Order: sequence, then structure tokens, then C-alpha cells
Amino acid sequence: MLDLLVKNARCIRSDGIREENIAIENGRIASLLPCDEKPAAESVLDASGYCVLPGNIDAHTHFNEPGYTWREDFSHGSRAAAKGGVTTVVDMPMNNKPPVSTARRFMNKKALVEHESYTDFAFWGALIRTNRDDLQALHEAGAKAFKCFMCEAGGDYTDLNLSEIEDRLQLLKAFHGLAGFHCEDYAMLKDEAAAKIAAGLTSRQDYLDVHSVAAEKKAVRDLLNIARRTGGRVHICHVSHPEVAELIRKAKKEGLAVTAETCMHYLLLTDEDFLKKGGVLKCSPPLRSPQAAEKLFDYVLDGTIDTICSDHSPCDLAEKNEDGPRGIFGAWGGLSGVQTTLQTCWDYVVNRRHASPALVTRLFAEHPAKIFGLWGRKGALLPGFDADFVLLDPNREWEIREADLLYKHPFSAFCGQKGRGLPVATYLRGKRIYGSEGFCEKASGHFLA
Ligand SMILES: [Zn+2]
Repeated sequence: MLDLLVKNARCIRSDGIREENIAIENGRIASLLPCDEKPAAESVLDASGYCVLPGNIDAHTHFNEPGYTWREDFSHGSRAAAKGGVTTVVDMPMNNKPPVSTARRFMNKKALVEHESYTDFAFWGALIRTNRDDLQALHEAGAKAFKCFMCEAGGDYTDLNLSEIEDRLQLLKAFHGLAGFHCEDYAMLKDEAAAKIAAGLTSRQDYLDVHSVAAEKKAVRDLLNIARRTGGRVHICHVSHPEVAELIRKAKKEGLAVTAETCMHYLLLTDEDFLKKGGVLKCSPPLRSPQAAEKLFDYVLDGTIDTICSDHSPCDLAEKNEDGPRGIFGAWGGLSGVQTTLQTCWDYVVNRRHASPALVTRLFAEHPAKIFGLWGRKGALLPGFDADFVLLDPNREWEIREADLLYKHPFSAFCGQKGRGLPVATYLRGKRIYGSEGFCEKASGHFLA
């Protein structure tokens, strides 16, 4: 007998919409059946009226554990993720103390969060100057990709120069490793920010001037040249501007092994919002012009941008203060969004831009699964895959309010946003982890090796 039959499911697949029944056994999808076929099951879930999406994969979160848990931890972050329809997170290595740059640190992090995560989870490993000899072991420990900064990122590590990046990409090729990059040119940013601060020019506009589109393009260009020379796999994190996306589009056309992500804040929020509201909307790269935000979606539609992630990078509200001697440059750069990415993405794609809901599934399930080595188990409603899925009510109107956020510090740049289409229940391996009755009793997320 089946464990669960989800009947009358309006499945949002990556290639279109289909009405079917989902048969679930031992945490996996056993089969997909026509709606009039109803084999016996221990429990039945009637999904009439809802859209059923594969559990979302947020491949860029900073849950900060271990090290900076006053900002966020896995317990808060993964509950927020589950409420937002995310069933798998791939967590970043750098907002950790120590950064996850060795296999030992990787396994320590796994042991720490193992019983805390409501969603399944995997990790990025760090790619820093000092861990050249640790990359293979990190890969073997389960690192899905390696995160590298092409700009000053702070913390307990140094940044790689271009020839070091080239060397590491060569090295990663031995095991088909993927490196993901924060692309802003280190030299440009560092010198310009120092000059501004020394001259007392620390306004919001000064921050935008320093973190220019030119600095992002320069880093992406340099990186694509390295990708061209090495043939290494490169992932461009948080693309903020259509001119950056255009470079990636050309590189893909050329056949380079490049993938790219953007975040809902680059589509929904703009530099005008940042100039008005300041610190709470500070991120890096920064928010761009309304015209850029509008045009960036063209590159989501044409497949240049493979995936949407939250880049959930929370902090204490006090860290967003811009009254110190460094002004806005001293405020924490990062936005919280893991809970609201699906609802904002759905509303934006389906209601505002009138694109197919299938695009949401491609951006937030299929593509991240394929890029980060989870395909076959995660990322689709297909037989043999984990029974991770979300019920989304396409008619439910919402407004994002602080009171509904489950982050350790429940504030967000997205507060005040309104839309339609809300995830209302989330299932992980066939078990409900979030629904109208709240959360499952115990965190049951698995580490994805
Ligand atoms: Zn990030």
C-alpha cells in the first residue's frame, strides 16, 4: 500500500502543467497517475484548488552556523525556508567562523546542524587563498560547489587574485568541480571605497557609485576569460544587471561552462528604494535602476539566468545602522529572503510578467538541482525522486509583514511587498513539514551527500 496519495494535483512541471495523482511510497514518488486512478494509500491528500510544485531548492543561503548565530542559525533559517516552500538549501561557507575551507570544518558544520534543519541541506565549500590542498577532500566530503569572492568580503580569509583563480579552476576540473563567484572587481571597489570614506563621502549614493555596474562587469569579464582558457565550470552568483547578463549570454553562446543566478531583490527592488530606505536595502552588488530591474527579466526568460536564489544574508537590525564614521559603508550588506522567494517569484513571473508558471519550477527546482548535483533525487515531480513538494494557493493575496517572518531577526527589505499566490504547505520526503497546523514536531532535514 502507498504511504500517501496526492490526488487532483495540478503539477507545475518544468515543461508545463499537468493534472495528475502523485503516488508516494517510502518518501519517494512511486508513480504519477491519471486523476481517475486511485490506488489504496494510508493517507490521501486532496490538492484540488492548489498548484503543486516540486520542493524549491535555494542554493544560496547564509544560515551563519557555526560562528555568527546571533544573525541567523539553521533552526530559524530552515523553518523560514520550509514555510516559504523551500525543501532543500545549499548553505554558503563564508559566513561561518571558521570558514568552511577544510573537510574537517565541513564535517563539523554538518554535525552541528544535522538535528536542527527542517529542510534537507547541502553545503558549499570555501575557495580561498589558503585551502588549495583541501579542495579535493572538501569535494569528497560532499561540497556541492566552491564559493570565491572577487572582491573584499571581510572575515578570516584572503581573496584570490586572477592567476590563483585560474589555478584553482584547473584543479577543480579533476573532479568536475563547480566554482561560484561573487563578481565585483576587488581593486576597483577597495580603492574607491577607501577614497570616498577618507573624503567623508559616505552617503547611499556614494555606495552606489563605488559598487558600480562597471565593477561587476569587469569581474565577470575577467572570470569568463579564465573560464575560456581553463574550460572550468563557473557559476556567477547574484547577477544584478542586464549588462552583466549580456556578457553571460554571449559566453553561453560561445559554449563556456557557465551558469548564473539572480535574486528576487534585483527584479523587485531598485536603487531608488535603496536611496529612500538605506541600510535595510543594502546588498552587494547593490540594487540597480528601475530600467535595469525591468530588463533583467529578459535574461531570466531566455535562460541566460538559470536560477533564482535568495542570497539570504541576515543580520541584527542594529548592524544596518549607517550613522557610524563609515556611513552606509559601515552597514551590513545582505538581505533576508529565504522565506519569501517563492511567493515573490511566483507573483512576479505569473501575475506581473505573465510568463508560464513552469518557469518558476525551472528557476527554483530543476535548474538548481542540475547545477548543484542534486538531480535524480531533487528538483522535479518525477518517479524515483524524493517526494518534496509545495502546495501553493494561486488565489491567496499576501502582504509581507515582519510579524510573519520566522528569521532570527524578523525584518526584511521585502516587507510591504504585496502579491498573489502563496505556499501554504510544504512536504519533505512525503511528510508535511509545514502547513496550516504549523511545523512538524521535530526537525527532520537530511544532509545531502
Ligand atoms: Zn551570498
